[in-house]
Amino acid sequence: MSRPTQAHINLDALRFNYQLACNLAPQSQTVAVVKANAYGHGAVECAKALEPLAPALGVACIEEALQLRQAGLNKPILLLEGIFSADEVEIAARENFWLMVENTFQADAICQAKPSAPLRCWIKIDTGMHRLGLVPEQFNSVYQQLQTSANVHSPLLAASHFACADELKNATTEQQLQVFNTTIQGLDCPTSIANSAGILGWPQARSNWNRPGIMLYGSSPFEHSHAEGDKLKAVMTLRSAVISVRHVKAGDSVGYGANWNADKPSTIATVAAGYGDGYPRVIANGTPVLVNGQSCPLAGRVSMDMISVDVSHLNSVKIGDPVELWGENLPVNEIAGHANTLGYELLTRMPARPTRIYSDLN
Ligand SMILES: *Cc1c(COP(=O)(O)O)cnc(C)c1O
Repeated sequence: MSRPTQAHINLDALRFNYQLACNLAPQSQTVAVVKANAYGHGAVECAKALEPLAPALGVACIEEALQLRQAGLNKPILLLEGIFSADEVEIAARENFWLMVENTFQADAICQAKPSAPLRCWIKIDTGMHRLGLVPEQFNSVYQQLQTSANVHSPLLAASHFACADELKNATTEQQLQVFNTTIQGLDCPTSIANSAGILGWPQARSNWNRPGIMLYGSSPFEHSHAEGDKLKAVMTLRSAVISVRHVKAGDSVGYGANWNADKPSTIATVAAGYGDGYPRVIANGTPVLVNGQSCPLAGRVSMDMISVDVSHLNSVKIGDPVELWGENLPVNEIAGHANTLGYELLTRMPARPTRIYSDLN
């Protein structure tokens, strides 16, 4: 007696993927990145599953960190973009939030505050992505400023972020590493560089602290097959069911805009999931949908609440039959490819509408 559209979240797979990140870098500490509602999977539930394993959690902003505190999570939480306004310094001190420091406004705000406890700071260096971070020429003075401030806990940490680590033949990553190493030369400070692609694909990028996000959710950051990336287990499986079945004649069209036409008499199953459930509207006709575990092509435009699937080649399809849109048996990256985007985007922009069902075998 309920709409069958649900996002099943496999917390064992989440822990498995986290452990894979740890095993690849046994000398590193591994921050579990759970920003953006844990890439759509539910920040609180995922953080609770990972907290016993992870020394720290990572989020984009203080609102996300406070949500975790209010839910009872106790580990340090790294704010990956640091503070947006000076009043956040005291909250961070009180709540044991660690701050990325990526510009001089943030450094000054930290040094001018009167926090109730010293803060842990990660200084971010712009090694070539040119989005966030201090340029190498600024690094030494900010490092000195923070190191001599009583508001800052030692040791300081030096961090950076890759622009192209998902492209394993791209020379940018080596260049960024070189800029990073030159910038911190002579300083004895811990470092953090690697995101998922760095951990999986660039052993030289693994350092004291790694910051995996997407890989925890079972989506490889690489476009092609990759020895380590292929070991990841899907965490979210978006499931629904057939809610209607009909036969159409050759020449009949299906859906809004009548943009799919039957080239022969066909059986069309209507499935209760659409763009209102996170299934992208731009996705192409012919995209695979699993009906009763069998691959069937999408037929016609994605509606808000429904899609239509050509099930002509299946023996019998009836109302209530199970459907998988992506997940365990149909990689989200493959579906993203049909929508001209990445697994990152499909997962992260998952709306709240499909109920999250958490399976926790532990
Ligand atoms: C989001 C984020 C990560 C995680 O990146 P993935 O590619 O998802 O592994 C790591 N570091 C920073 C600074 C981030 O913003």
